[in-house]
Amino acid sequence: MGKARRKEREGVENTTSGDSKLYLEAPVLERKLLTELDMRMLVDLPAGLDYNEWLASHTMALFDHVNLVYGTVSEFCTTTGCPDMTGPSQRTYLWFDEKGKKTRVAAPQYIDYVMTFIQKTISDENIFPTKYANEFPSSFESIVRKIIRLLFHVMAHLYAAHFKEVVLLGLHSHLNLTFAHLTALHHRFSLIEPKETEVLRDLEIALRLTDDGSQESTSNAGDQHLQQTDSAADNTDSDSKNQVEESADFFSILNMFFNSRRLSKLKEFKANNFLGGEQKS
Ligand SMILES: [Zn+2]
Repeated sequence: MGKARRKEREGVENTTSGDSKLYLEAPVLERKLLTELDMRMLVDLPAGLDYNEWLASHTMALFDHVNLVYGTVSEFCTTTGCPDMTGPSQRTYLWFDEKGKKTRVAAPQYIDYVMTFIQKTISDENIFPTKYANEFPSSFESIVRKIIRLLFHVMAHLYAAHFKEVVLLGLHSHLNLTFAHLTALHHRFSLIEPKETEVLRDLEIALRLTDDGSQESTSNAGDQHLQQTDSAADNTDSDSKNQVEESADFFSILNMFFNSRRLSKLKEFKANNFLGGEQKS
């Protein structure tokens, strides 16, 4: 524990070893419930489900969870305490205003912009349609990438500037789980650029969300769409009971994550395709 008492030197620019990173210390590296395997299963696209629908569900879930955690510590995030939107390792995020001009804004302001933008976007029926008849716009994936990147910034700020408060409120495992969820989704579908995620790479490794090797994230992203649901749909007699239980667990996990509006759409899908197998025609 003596480690935390770091040498304080003025003007040291060393970004990786200079900070003490509370979030990398063993007692706070817990996350709720899910193993790495569960995480992969959680994000793997069920066979036959629309990719955009899947992205929409995960995006809204991540938004809810990041919003929840930030909401509980937001009183500590003030323009005086957080005059810049910082992440770990002296990363600073600038806001692009509506004219595309980079502006330096305080963290609470930046996060307010982020949350307002996301709330507005996911409530827009033209972008995040909730009815089967309505289609996703062609720009949907790029909008999702932007949302995920901005949510990542908020999490980066929570880890860098407010982790102590997060721990005091007992929310660190929840934050870690949300980070694990975002990371798993990103690993599966390559949603954010590595230069964005590198500031929390050490946390990824500490939480064992990734190998500490090099860039594996994109290499296996393409061809696995069918794997998880193949096995769930492959009901041989001897296995069928387990399979059904797995599916039930899977959906109880989704329940925990997903926004109810989205979930009812997914359940409709499940009823048609996932458990029943046969569809009325
Ligand atoms: Zn702050």
